[in-house]
Amino acid sequence: MSILEASPYAQVAVGRPLRGEFTYLVPASLRGKLKPGQRVKVPFGRATTLAFYLSDAPPPSAEVAAKLKPIDCALEPEPVLTPDVVELVRFAARHYRYPLGEALKAALPPQLTRPDEEKEAKPDVEWWAHVLGLPSPDELPKSAHAQRATLQYLLAVGRTATMEEVAIAIPGARETLKKLAERDLIRLEARPRVKRAADGLGAERHAVLTEEQDVAVKTLSAELERGQFAPWLLYGVTGSGKTEVYLQLVERALELKKGALILVPEIALTPQLVGRFHSRFGAKVAVLHSALKDSERYRNFQSLRRGEQRIAVGVRSAIFAPVKDLGIIVVDEEHDPSFKQEEKLRYHARDLAVVRAQKANALVVLGSATPSLETLENTNRGRYKSVQLTRRVDDRPMPSVGLVDLRIERPRKRDEPRTSEPPILSAPLREAMEDVLSRGQQVILFLNRRGYDTFMVCEVCGQNLKCKDCDVCLTHHHGSRRLLCHYCNRQEFVPDRCPQCTGPLIRLGMGTEKVEAEVAEAFPAARVGRLDRDAVTSTETLTELLASFARRELDVLVGTQMVAKGHDFPGVTLVCVVMADTALALPDFRAAERTFHLLTQVGGRAGRGVDPGRVLVQTYNPEAEPVARVLHHDFEGFSREELRRRRLLAWPPYSRLAAVRIEGAHPEDTARVARALGKAVADHLPPATHGVRLLGPAPAPISKIKGKTRWQLLLKAPTHAAMEKPLSAIEAMLPDLPSSVRVTLDVDPGAML
Ligand code: ADP
Ligand code: ZN
Repeated sequence: MSILEASPYAQVAVGRPLRGEFTYLVPASLRGKLKPGQRVKVPFGRATTLAFYLSDAPPPSAEVAAKLKPIDCALEPEPVLTPDVVELVRFAARHYRYPLGEALKAALPPQLTRPDEEKEAKPDVEWWAHVLGLPSPDELPKSAHAQRATLQYLLAVGRTATMEEVAIAIPGARETLKKLAERDLIRLEARPRVKRAADGLGAERHAVLTEEQDVAVKTLSAELERGQFAPWLLYGVTGSGKTEVYLQLVERALELKKGALILVPEIALTPQLVGRFHSRFGAKVAVLHSALKDSERYRNFQSLRRGEQRIAVGVRSAIFAPVKDLGIIVVDEEHDPSFKQEEKLRYHARDLAVVRAQKANALVVLGSATPSLETLENTNRGRYKSVQLTRRVDDRPMPSVGLVDLRIERPRKRDEPRTSEPPILSAPLREAMEDVLSRGQQVILFLNRRGYDTFMVCEVCGQNLKCKDCDVCLTHHHGSRRLLCHYCNRQEFVPDRCPQCTGPLIRLGMGTEKVEAEVAEAFPAARVGRLDRDAVTSTETLTELLASFARRELDVLVGTQMVAKGHDFPGVTLVCVVMADTALALPDFRAAERTFHLLTQVGGRAGRGVDPGRVLVQTYNPEAEPVARVLHHDFEGFSREELRRRRLLAWPPYSRLAAVRIEGAHPEDTARVARALGKAVADHLPPATHGVRLLGPAPAPISKIKGKTRWQLLLKAPTHAAMEKPLSAIEAMLPDLPSSVRVTLDVDPGAML
C-alpha cells in the first residue's frame, strides 16, 4: 500500500483498564506499515502509554479529527504477538467483556507491557560455587561465622554446588559466597541452566502402539495434515495411553514444520507428562507454568515467537503462547475446572483453544476420560468429532469399584462415644489396606478437604466457630495448632471453650490431616505421606513427594484432589475415596458432574501396573447418580442422565450463563448496587419469548469473603447473543458505581459460589 492510500487514522486499544477503542493519527513515517497487534506508544491524558494498533480507522468528523493526537512511535518493526493470538485476544475481550488493551497485555510477558522497546532476553544461567585448593574453615577469622559455615557446607557437599542450593541451606549465603570468592577460597561461575527432571518420574517411548492408539494417531494425523480447523475429542479411559497419542501427533506436527501447544491443568502436579515431552523433544519444549520468573517468561516468549522452540507445554495462560505456525493444540484433561481463569480476563482456556485452532487452521484435541458435558454435547451435535480409547494399555483391567455404605458402618471401638461422625477407615477399607500393604503394594486415600477437624461447634449454644471476615467455618489444623479460614487464610488460636457462651466445644468433620493420623495409628509400619496445600508449599517439595511415592519410598498417600490428577504410579493397587459426599452437596449445577469426574479420575490411579487395581468408595449416598454410576464405570449412563436433567432445567450446555458479582465493604451499599443492577438488567431483558432469565440479585452462597459482602445475579439465556443487551446495560453502569463496590462480569462462569 502506498503512503497516499494508507489511512492517516488508526484504531488502537490502549493498555489501560478502559473499555472501547480509540482513534489516533498515524504519522507519515508509519503510514501503511503498522500491523494488527503491533505495540505502539501513544500520548494519553498527560502521560504516554502502551497501546496496540488494531486497524485503520475511517475518517472522523472534522471536529473530532482536529482533537486527535498522533501515535508517538512503533515499538518494534513487527508485532510481538502472532496474528492468531491477536485475533484470539480480540475474541476473548469481546466474549468475556474485558478491556481489550488489558487483555492484550495479559498475553505478553511483563517486560513487554511497558511502553519500551523490546530487549534481548538474557540467557538463562545459574551460578555455581567451586572450592579452590584445600582451604580449611579455621583459616577464616573467628568472627566470620557465616563464611565459615558456608565453606563448611561446600566442603561437605563435595566442594561444588549451585548458589541457589547454598542459599536455601544457609540464609544470606549469596553475599557470603561473594566474600569467599574475594578471598580466593572459592570460584563463582555462571553456567547455562540445565533442567533436571526428578528421579523416578522418567519416561520411555512406546514404539508399539495399542490397536486403538494406532487408530487414534492415524485418524488425527490425517486431520493434522489437512491443515484445517478440526476439533476432536479424544475420549480415552484412564490408563489407555492418551499421552502417547499426543506425543506422536506432536512428532507429526514437527515433521510438517508446524508448532504445537499442549495445555495441562497443573504442571507441578503432572511432572510425568512434562517429563515425557522433555525426553521426547528435548530443548524444543518451552514449559510455561505459573511460577516462572519474569525473565524466564520473557525468554520463552521470544524463543517461541522466533520458532526456536516449537512446542509449548503449559497451564491455562499458555493458550496465548506465541507458538509459530501452530498445527495442533492439545487440551489434556479438558474437563478440569482449572482451565477457567477466575480473575481479570475470566476466560476458559479449553474454549479458547477451540477458537484459536479455528483462527490458526489447526487441529485441536480435547483429551479426557470424563469429558465435560459441554464437550460431549458438542460431539453429540456433530460439531466435534471423536475418537475413543476404550481399553487400558496391555489390556490391563479397569479397577473394580466397591462401595462402603457409611450408614451401616459403625464407629470402630465400643467405648467410643456415639457421634454422628463417620468412621474414616471402615472395616472393609482396613481389610483391603492390610491386604495390599502386606503384598508391598501402594494405597491412595482421597478426601477433598484439608485440615484435621473441619468444624468446631459449641455443645451448649450450637454456634459454629466461623471466620470473622468470611461466611465460612474455621478448620482445625493439627500441624500448625491453629484454626484456619480456607478462604482468607486467617489464623486463630484454638479456644478451649466457646467464645460466645464458654460452653464446651466439640470437633466435627474430617480432613486429610485426620485421615493421615488415623492411617498412621492403624498401620504403624506403613510409610504415610500427605499431599495437600498444607503439606506441600513449594514446587520442589511437591515434585519430591510425588517422586518418592513413585520410587515406592511411601506406602500410603493421603491427599486432596491433588492426588486425583493424571499421575501414573504402577505400584498403586488400592484407591479409596474416604467420603464421596463432600462435593455432592455444593449449591452448584455442576456438583454431580464434578463428583463423577473426581471419583473417576482418582479411581483411575489404581491398577496401572501389572497388578490389578481396586477402588473403594465410602459414602452416605450410595444411590446418588454419580456414585452409583461410578461403580460400573458408566460414564455414558451418567452423562446421558445428567444431560437430560440439564436440558430439563435449562442449564449449560443447553443454555449460556453470565454471572454478575457484586462485592463491597458496606453491606447496605452492596445490596443497593446489586438491586440497581438487577433492575437495569430487567429493563433490558428481551421479550420473554427469547428465553433470557434473570436469577437474583441475591446474596451469594458464601455471602461474605475477606470482610466483603457478596451478591450475585445470574443471566441464563439460550444463546450468548441473547445476553448482549442486558450485559451491555450493566457495563454502561460500571463507571458510575460507588468506588467501594466492585462489580465483575463472569461470562460462562465456572464455580457458582
Ligand atoms: P492416560 O493419560 O490415558 O491415563 P497414560 O498416557 O498415562 O494414560 O498411559 C498409561 C501408561 O501406559 C503409562 O505408563 C504409559 O507409559 C503406558 N503406555 C502408553 N502407551 C503404551 C504402549 N503403546 N505400550 C506400552 N505402554 C504404554
Ligand atoms: Zn476468612
